[in-house]
Amino acid sequence: MAIYNLGSINADLLYSVPHLPRPGETLAATGFRRGLGGKGANMSVAAARGAAHVVHIGAVGPDGRWARDLLTEYGVDTRHISVVDDVTGHAIILLDPAGENTIVINPGANHAMTEDQIGLALSEASPGDILLMQNETTHQAFCAKTGSDLGLRVIYAAAPFDAEAVRALLPVMDMLVLNAVEADQLQQALGMAPDALGVSDVIVTLGADGCRWFHAETGQVRDFPALPVTPVDTTGAGDTFTGYLLAGLDRGQPMEQAIGLATKAAALMVTRIGTADVIPDLLEIQQMTQPR
Ligand code: AMP
Repeated sequence: MAIYNLGSINADLLYSVPHLPRPGETLAATGFRRGLGGKGANMSVAAARGAAHVVHIGAVGPDGRWARDLLTEYGVDTRHISVVDDVTGHAIILLDPAGENTIVINPGANHAMTEDQIGLALSEASPGDILLMQNETTHQAFCAKTGSDLGLRVIYAAAPFDAEAVRALLPVMDMLVLNAVEADQLQQALGMAPDALGVSDVIVTLGADGCRWFHAETGQVRDFPALPVTPVDTTGAGDTFTGYLLAGLDRGQPMEQAIGLATKAAALMVTRIGTADVIPDLLEIQQMTQPR
């Protein structure tokens, strides 16, 4: 099987700062790293490191060919990443010593994809394949409808949260993945808790408290603890969790097992500074016998 991911690709510009700046404050960074990021790219890399066949549907500008090359190097199928006449999406990430961050994103090429490009990529998919989307690109509704008509399993990671996007995708969504903040935003915007949406599976990630799975078919709500680790950078933890979750599901693992795999991958991820470049691979996760 395969995972088709309509997703953002960003250059992540990561500045370590002594504290997050207040309005009007100018701060000198104590460190700088540039790397590959974007929720879409992160999830593609995580799923590929989790041994899934991942077809990324995305766009970069002429200044972003390195990002596409890196995704290829990381094992992602990049044939459906186009080079468009726009700046590559980028994120300015500020990280304080406690691991808290603030992020500003310029979408750039991530908003320059076309329905034709998406339709062409999905024409290669087979029923039962996974279609993943987040909210850092455009055309999610078209993509979800096309994928659903083709018999794909439509999975939406509602980040960054957008009530309209959730509403539009609800009728064709098989699974929704949210973090705690997004679950609150959902409750406020739609007046509905995650278990009242009518979506077959809803996963709410809860940071150091693990995650909660709402399973509509059985009406069950199950909690899964996180692993006890000392976080140094939580950037990309949720993306790593989702990518690994889908890699597990894609190779037929039951949800409990896929969540277990995703929980381990995300725990290892929060002990590292960086985004796509430092997402752990399967071997590292299998070697995680002891909590750190
Ligand atoms: P979040 O997006 O913050 O909800 O985190 C996604 C997933 O990453 C969680 O469900 C956990 O599995 C993992 N995670 C996040 N923060 C921590 C932490 N401090 N310790 C262990 N695991 C974490």
